Amino acid sequence: MANLSPKKNEMPSQLPNVRNKNFSEVALGYTKEQAIDEANRCLNCKNKPCTGGCPVAIDIPAFISKIKEEDFEGAYQIITRSSSLPAVCGRVCPQEVQCEQRCVRGKNGEPVAIGRLERFVADYHNAHATKPAEKPASNGHRVAVIGSGPSGLTCAGDLAKKGYDVTVFEALHLAGGVLVYGIPEFRLPKNIVQKEINTLKELGVNIETNMVIGKTESIDELFEEGFEAVFIGSGAGLPRFMNIPGENYKGVYSANEFLTRVNLMKAYKDASHTPILHAKKVAVVGGGNVAMDAARCALRLGAEEVSIVYRRSAEELPARAEEVEHAKEEGVTFRLLTNPVEILGDEHKFVTGLKCVEMELGEPDASGRRSPVVKENSDFVLDVDCVIMSIGTSPNPLIKSTTKGLETQKWGGIVIDEETGLTSRPGVYAGGDAVTGAATVILAMGAGKTAAKAIDEYLQKH
Ligand code: FAD
Ligand code: SF4
Ligand code: SF4
Repeated sequence: MANLSPKKNEMPSQLPNVRNKNFSEVALGYTKEQAIDEANRCLNCKNKPCTGGCPVAIDIPAFISKIKEEDFEGAYQIITRSSSLPAVCGRVCPQEVQCEQRCVRGKNGEPVAIGRLERFVADYHNAHATKPAEKPASNGHRVAVIGSGPSGLTCAGDLAKKGYDVTVFEALHLAGGVLVYGIPEFRLPKNIVQKEINTLKELGVNIETNMVIGKTESIDELFEEGFEAVFIGSGAGLPRFMNIPGENYKGVYSANEFLTRVNLMKAYKDASHTPILHAKKVAVVGGGNVAMDAARCALRLGAEEVSIVYRRSAEELPARAEEVEHAKEEGVTFRLLTNPVEILGDEHKFVTGLKCVEMELGEPDASGRRSPVVKENSDFVLDVDCVIMSIGTSPNPLIKSTTKGLETQKWGGIVIDEETGLTSRPGVYAGGDAVTGAATVILAMGAGKTAAKAIDEYLQKH
């Protein structure tokens, strides 16, 4: 029966003052009954506006119709025609600016909870599927994939399904890219990522970890070894700093380092040997998703006060609204229109404070956002013992500097042909954050898909 409620079904979640002390998943997912009830809010629009908002064009009304019929496996099959990581995207996609933004139910209420339904379908499949994925017959062609984030995993999976002999080379000791080293357990449990990686292995994908391409071996050497095409999905993991005095003090982290220690190296577990500062008062500089993740991790590590320090106003915060809301509910303080100018330290170079200035919004800049300008005589000191810099990342220059003929932008992004993902070097394709700079999981996946299709066409001609 159609559900005319203007509101989405709420997703059961841990309470804020419980969850801010543990690393278990915050949102608990729909029950079968809640999922069917939410699916009944969908009007099955003929022109599928929601699908137009999904970067990989999932047939949203079709999969939601299957949920209405209680055919959850059927729904899963429809989603996985377009997306290989539905349990991940259902959790972390910025749905509010993609599929859900275009949903007609959003005009007079809240849109259909497409992301939550996608998550339900993927979790249901993962809980009930027993058959391992079948390894297709080999077509004899070898492809190397550099990096095991969403772009690399998607490219590898799509090629393996077509019979390619794919090896993924990953610099870290565990595969998954940002999904394992960046996004915290409480937003994306790591067993979900591991499940996706296991499926790739069942398809025959070989994953070699601790392999830094450009150091352990170069792209030229991969070709010499017999790989016929290479996909670069090495992400944008090089952190930026503000270049203010004191950034070398003890207690200053880049968000990437902090999150890697917490997530990949499990510093939050009592049994972990990973060193991490259990700071009391933490300032996180920046206003994106990465900053929210770092702030929420710092709280869970036991900090008494965690502040987001952001130089623009609430309207310009680049993080997803839901992440900002969750951070506030958990006790993170927002110091908006505030910019750090110096990190203060004691005689042993331990952080003792963050000197800031107040800002006000001036004229719009090239991005259309009003530029923050310093208020005169407004400096003050925040009492903190840890500063986490989260002001962006860029692609690591290692691959560019060790690969002949690979054209990049000034800021480091690899130049590609957008239709195919082909770089300036024949046989070498690229996609994801390594090309666009820090973006989203679903865009990286889409880029991996585009390149896999183009690599298939290229190798079938050779
Ligand atoms: P990555 O995921 O960065 O993977 C690249 C991999 O390549 C890494 O494992 C790296 O170790 C490896 N590598 C690098 N250099 C080499 C080399 N030389 N040799 C071998 N391997 C190499 N997006 C969302 O959509 N929703 C979110 O909620 C969200 N939250 C985020 C939170 C954090 C903390 C971060 C950091 C990012 C977040 N993002 C989010 C962004 C999203 O995770 C990225 O856009 C996406 O992971 C990019 O995928 P990728 O495959 O291009 O690269
Ligand atoms: Fe929406 Fe992301 Fe799923 Fe596409 S992949 S339907 S954008 S949640
Ligand atoms: Fe359903 Fe909304 Fe898509 Fe229409 S736009 S088919 S109501 S999800």
